[in-house]
Amino acid sequence: MKKTLLFALLAAPFVSHAASPTESVNKAIEAMGGNNLQQLKTLTVRARTRHWEPHQSVQAGGEMRFSCDSIYTQSRDVSTGATRTDWERNYVYPATRTYKFSEILAGGIGYVNGIDTTARTKQSLESNPPQHTMSGLRVAATTRELTRNSPSLLVEMAKNPKRLQAVADQNVDGRSLPAVRYQGNNATYIAMFDPATGLPERIRTRDYEPLEGDSNYALVLSDWCTVDGFNYPYKQVYQLNGRNVIETSVEDVNVNPPLGADVFAIPEPYRAGAPKMAAYGKVPYQWVLRRPFIGTLLDSDAVLYDPQASSGLRLADVAPGVSHVQGGSHNSLIVEMDKFLVVFDAPIGEAQSKWTMDAASKKYPGKPFKYVVLTHHHMDHSSGIRIYAAAGATVVVGQGNADFFKKVLTSPDSLGADSPKKKINPNVVEVAGSYIITDGKRDVGAYLIENPHAAGYLMGYVHDVKLGFVTDLWSPGRDPLPPRLNPGLAAVVNGVKNWNLEPERFAGGHGSTGSFPDLLKVAAATN
Ligand SMILES: [Zn+2]
Repeated sequence: MKKTLLFALLAAPFVSHAASPTESVNKAIEAMGGNNLQQLKTLTVRARTRHWEPHQSVQAGGEMRFSCDSIYTQSRDVSTGATRTDWERNYVYPATRTYKFSEILAGGIGYVNGIDTTARTKQSLESNPPQHTMSGLRVAATTRELTRNSPSLLVEMAKNPKRLQAVADQNVDGRSLPAVRYQGNNATYIAMFDPATGLPERIRTRDYEPLEGDSNYALVLSDWCTVDGFNYPYKQVYQLNGRNVIETSVEDVNVNPPLGADVFAIPEPYRAGAPKMAAYGKVPYQWVLRRPFIGTLLDSDAVLYDPQASSGLRLADVAPGVSHVQGGSHNSLIVEMDKFLVVFDAPIGEAQSKWTMDAASKKYPGKPFKYVVLTHHHMDHSSGIRIYAAAGATVVVGQGNADFFKKVLTSPDSLGADSPKKKINPNVVEVAGSYIITDGKRDVGAYLIENPHAAGYLMGYVHDVKLGFVTDLWSPGRDPLPPRLNPGLAAVVNGVKNWNLEPERFAGGHGSTGSFPDLLKVAAATN
């Protein structure tokens, strides 16, 4: 081992006045237990973890949504990298529910035993008991995080000195932290060290976040405790641009426990044909990592839809000159005007916006998107906004949302695979009551409505065809109408009444279309 370290030391680039990257890494290994860390074979950790989602808040840019309080037990085989995490996730958003499941990553593929999401794939729905293979995107994103919080990451760095690079000390909260850059198999990490103890303090990646642009995503390690001559961080916090989105408190660590091979076993039917880990750089990390914060990841390499269940996105003609983008987990609504188009919502990300613009240019040639109306700011219905704005569309949002979206559209976005990567001059209209887009023949309205889901919410309405559009308050065709109104459905009924609209049907940001008189019957049965 000493030989390896000596070689590493000599191979490292010389940096004056500061420790070389290899010296910083070796110092950290010593601080974490030296030989005891290098001898680590297996590890079991039990922890409690809590999740907050920044972009499912009530107010755009406001207090993050607390979503989930979980416990997990994680077992690792350090030599093979195989990991199993047994979860009990207790969600309070978007609905109260508990998911108990196991995630196994081994041999470059992933497997989930149990139900882990409301957006289940066909494979999960048809398996009894429920289980499914992970998408290659989820394998890649999960592997990146397992590497980031692995106690052996520093040992891996020491073994790969050519992948280490010196970087300037990093300023964090007024402190200057020595740092190294490490090109791992799955990501580029910036590791920062506590100057006093030499322990790793922060491990950061640069991620694309559609609403925040190029972002810092960092794991912050603290509360180091000694277990069997080896030091482990009992507090692990993930920060997205400085805000705590995951807080983990470790309750128990077991060093070198015996782990049978069956701990990491993936049943043959789920091993055969399992997607391989997606290529580094092709992964929408923040989407794949954060949809599980609220238990809604559609675990699919197509991201926008489940290829086993859908042939892909399609334009459904729901009225003359009105096309509903269906076939995926999230929809938008395109309305044709005399010389231009209006679209409601920009779901999931720029890939779906590109598809929508492409399909619209074939269906409605020569008509650009002049307006994009957002029902609300939640990430899954607004993250594709940049593409429309970059193409010159005016962004129409509800009261209290304009400043947030001006910031979104002017934040740098060099890291997004599909992002427009050009400077956008945002043209954002904020609606405090109603806003009518007209070509003299067709009126398309956006109406601010009271609702329990998001502040500054707009309901869409195409007057001549008596068609409404709402997202998340009612998902017609997906969620059957209940016998009595729930708060979301009541908001739709009241919004229609307050604005004196006369819809025959609604199209949804999820699902398909539904009859408004049927919803009124439910309203009449409520009281
Ligand atoms: Zn929402």
